[in-house]
Amino acid sequence: MSATAMSALVGLLFMAMLLGLIPATIAQSKGRSFIVFWLYGTLFFIVALTHALLMRTTKKKAEADAVADGGKVCPNCAEVIRAAASVCRFCGREVQKGQP
Ligand SMILES: [Zn+2]
Repeated sequence: MSATAMSALVGLLFMAMLLGLIPATIAQSKGRSFIVFWLYGTLFFIVALTHALLMRTTKKKAEADAVADGGKVCPNCAEVIRAAASVCRFCGREVQKGQP
């Protein structure tokens, strides 16, 4: 392989890896694996990007975001509720106000 063809190939691979960062970042923000989606995005950019955009945020990640956003976990049913709530909206039981 000539040096020119080699550097063109390396350039293409580099571009693919850079593009792969886009679906990887989206996937990470939805609680998925960054590395998996980076590889996926490097190999199949359009497919991975569409997949990353369409998939839902994992429940675990959504709950972590809600807690970081000022929510708290209900001690009775473990659902995330508002910090100021005195009654859980999921199980209907009373919860202590302002307790994290
Ligand atoms: Zn509850």
